[in-house]
Amino acid sequence: MAGLDEKLLGIYDEVLHRNPGEIEFHQAVHEVLMSLGPVVAKHPEYADSAVIRRLCEPERQIIFRVPWVDDNGAVQINRGFRVEFNSALGPYKGGLRFHPSVYLGIIKFLGYEQIFKNALTGMPIGGGKGGSDFDPKGRSDGEIMRFCQAFMTELYRHLGEYTDVPAGDIGVGGREIGYLFGQYKRITNRYESGVLTGKGLTWGGSQVRTEATGYGTVFFVEEILRTRHDSFDGKRVVVSGSGNVAVYAIEKVQQLGGTVVACSDSGGYIVDEKGIDLDLLKDVKEVRRARISEYVEARGDAATYVAGRSVWNVPCDVALPCATQNELNGSDATTLIRNGCAIVAEGANMPCTPEAVQFFTDAGVTFAPGKAANAGGVATSALEMQQNASRDSWTFEHTEQRLADIMRGIHDRCLETAEEYGSPGNYVAGANIAGFTQVADAMLALGVI
Ligand code: NAP
Repeated sequence: MAGLDEKLLGIYDEVLHRNPGEIEFHQAVHEVLMSLGPVVAKHPEYADSAVIRRLCEPERQIIFRVPWVDDNGAVQINRGFRVEFNSALGPYKGGLRFHPSVYLGIIKFLGYEQIFKNALTGMPIGGGKGGSDFDPKGRSDGEIMRFCQAFMTELYRHLGEYTDVPAGDIGVGGREIGYLFGQYKRITNRYESGVLTGKGLTWGGSQVRTEATGYGTVFFVEEILRTRHDSFDGKRVVVSGSGNVAVYAIEKVQQLGGTVVACSDSGGYIVDEKGIDLDLLKDVKEVRRARISEYVEARGDAATYVAGRSVWNVPCDVALPCATQNELNGSDATTLIRNGCAIVAEGANMPCTPEAVQFFTDAGVTFAPGKAANAGGVATSALEMQQNASRDSWTFEHTEQRLADIMRGIHDRCLETAEEYGSPGNYVAGANIAGFTQVADAMLALGVI
C-alpha cells in the first residue's frame, strides 16, 4: 500500500490477512498507520515491542445470539457483538449500535477508532464498541424493550463499571439505554450506575450527555475558528443526519450565531434557507420518530425536501457530517470545495472517505477527524462515570463548561502534536499521533499482556 513506512506496511498486511472482508476496519487501521511513519522513525521501540501490532488485535471479541419475540408472537433472531479492543488506559468504553448494516467489521472499526479518541480526552477509559444487526425502524416500543432485554441477557456477564461500560450510538438513545439498564439491574440485583452511560437524568444520567457529541463537535470548530480570529457568527452550515449528534450540533451552531440551512436522514435532505426550525426538527425526529420529509410538510413553503440526493450539494462555509461512515465521498468533497466550504468537522465516525479527506487536504480545507471532533460524547460519558462514582450530580452549566474545556484541550493537543511531528495544522496527524502515543506508552509500561 503506497505511503506506508516499511514496518507499518507489514503490520497492515497482517491486518488484511487476519480480518478478511472487514473493509471498514481495514480503512480505519490504514488511516492511523498512515500517520505513524514519523513516530516509528523517532521511537522505534513502538514497532520493536509489537505495540502497534497488539493494538490492531482486539483483547476480546464477543459474538452472541439475540432471540426475542415480536408483536405477532414470532421468534426473531439477531446477532449481538461486543469488541473489547483495548484496556490499557481504563475500562473498555464505547457505544452500542443497532442498525441492519452492523457486522463484525463495523464494530471493529468503531472500537479501534474509540481507543485513540478516548485517549485524546485525557480520561481513564479504554476502547470498545458493540451492537447488533437489529433494525429498530418501525418496531413498537414493546418490541424495542424485549430486544434490549434479550441483548442484555447475554451481554451483562461481560460488563461492569471497572470492566466494560457501553453507551449509545446509531439506533441506541435514552429509551434503549433505559431498557438495557433495567435488565442489567434485574439480572445482577445491583444498582450499578456506572455500568452504562447516557442514562436518564432522574436515574443516574449526566446533564449534557445527550447534547455532548454535537455540542463538542461545534466547540471544536469554534476553536479552529478562534485560531484564525473568526467565529460562527454569520456562517452558513450544513449538517448531515438528523439523529442525536446532528440535532445538538445544529442547536449549538445556532446558539453561536451560525445558520444551519440543511440536514438529512437516509432518505433525503431538507433545505431551510432561514435556518432549521429546531423545535420542529426535534418534534419530528425525537417525539414522533418520523422521517425528515415530515419537517417540510409542517413547515410549508419555507423549506424544501430533496429525496435520494446528497446533502453536500447545498453550499456552505462549514460542513458537519453527523450521520454515518463513508457518507461523504470524493465527488461530494469536490462539490463542497467548489462551493467555498472552508472547514469540515466529523461529528460522525469516519463519515468522509479517504479520497474525500485527500481532496480537502489538497484544497486547503481544514479537516477535523471524528476521533478528535466528536470525542465530546465519550468525554461526557466519562464525566457521567465520575458523578456516579461520587454519588454526585453536577449542573448543566458546570458540565457544559467541562465539555468545552476538554474540547479545547483536545484541539490544542492535536495542533501541538502535529507541529512536533512535522505536519503543522494537520489535525489528522495530530489526533492519530497524540492518541496513539498515549495508549502505546501505557501498553509499554504494563508489559506484554
Ligand atoms: P442516531 O441518533 O441513530 O442518528 C443517525 C442519523 O444518521 C439518522 O438521521 C440516520 O437517518 C442517519 N443515517 C444512518 N445511517 C445512514 C446512512 N446509511 N445514510 C444516511 N444517513 C444515515 O445516531 P447518532 O448517535 O446521532 O450517531 C451518528 C454518528 O455519530 C455515528 O457515526 C456515530 O457512530 C457517531 N457518534 C455518536 C456519538 C453519540 O454520542 N451518539 C458519539 C460519537 C460519535 P435514518 O433515521 O434515516 O437512518
